[in-house]
Amino acid sequence: MSNFIYPWQEASWQQLQLLRQRMPHAILFHGAAGIGKSDFIERFAQGLLCEAVLPDGHACGQCASCGWFSQQNHPDYRRVRPEALEDEPAADGDEGDGEAKKSSAKSAKAPSKEIKIEQIRNLADFMNISTHRQGLRVVVLYPAEALNMPASNALLKTLEEPPPGTVFLLASNSLDRLLPTILSRCRKFALPMPSHAEALAWLKSQGVADADSWLREQGGAPLAAMAQAEVGNRDDLEVLLQLLAHPSVEGALKVADKLQKVPLSAQVSWLQRWLYDVFSYKLAGNIRYYPRYRKELASLAAKIHVSRLLAAIKGANERRATADHPLSPKLFLEDMLLDYAACCA
Ligand SMILES: [Zn+2]
Repeated sequence: MSNFIYPWQEASWQQLQLLRQRMPHAILFHGAAGIGKSDFIERFAQGLLCEAVLPDGHACGQCASCGWFSQQNHPDYRRVRPEALEDEPAADGDEGDGEAKKSSAKSAKAPSKEIKIEQIRNLADFMNISTHRQGLRVVVLYPAEALNMPASNALLKTLEEPPPGTVFLLASNSLDRLLPTILSRCRKFALPMPSHAEALAWLKSQGVADADSWLREQGGAPLAAMAQAEVGNRDDLEVLLQLLAHPSVEGALKVADKLQKVPLSAQVSWLQRWLYDVFSYKLAGNIRYYPRYRKELASLAAKIHVSRLLAAIKGANERRATADHPLSPKLFLEDMLLDYAACCA
């Protein structure tokens, strides 16, 4: 697995190797969410640290450095992510700052989705000691838009006076959410969206059933499609889409009861995509996410006034923010679906 990158990243990988001659202090990888940016930069990080790197820039997977890397305890490597991402099952011995462990151990508090200033401060000690292998020190940080303001400022200070021998690899889904001063300190590197055919072939090779639908619903981003296919339940999605296609008050209440245990954030995204399709059909006759509901989308687009549609889209965006902490999932859903039914009435 050590030299694994996704098929649509081959050209980027080769292009990136050219930078190794004169490594920038910081590279900011950007592109759509769900296309495999974090895996890509972790592979690159491993290649930078490897003691017997292959001619194509991939790590050897055999040396001591690669061994530490795959166990997530390389002394010259740090990975900075929001606590919420650290909930993923990790290999033995985590980052070593103990922070993620402490909070995921037993606290009732939801893990943070931000990168906090302590996480940036913790890097200071790491950067002040000499490297263990007399090579590079590598810091991987993603998603960069998760940096809160104090953390952004702390990182900016570090980027302004880069410690020698240290490379920062950042990844971001949306450059417009980063401080311009951070942008200006990084070499930007775009990672492409795969073509539909390429992404589809890959999903099928991973054994994802109904890959085409998942891929379309995730706007063509293959890793997002795979994640949804793994956690999302197609039956639940269909129940919701059936209601959205044929809205009624009675139906809204029934569906809210039936889907109250399904993650709310997923359901809000399904509604957001649906509204996006109605809107885009109304404006331009395009359907991006749910082409199999063309007939229903077209009839809704003809019926709903654009101002109501915009209000519904705004409402769904606002719900997205509270979906993680609803007082009652069922009430949350009832409210959301009744609003939708009213908008279509
Ligand atoms: Zn190696």
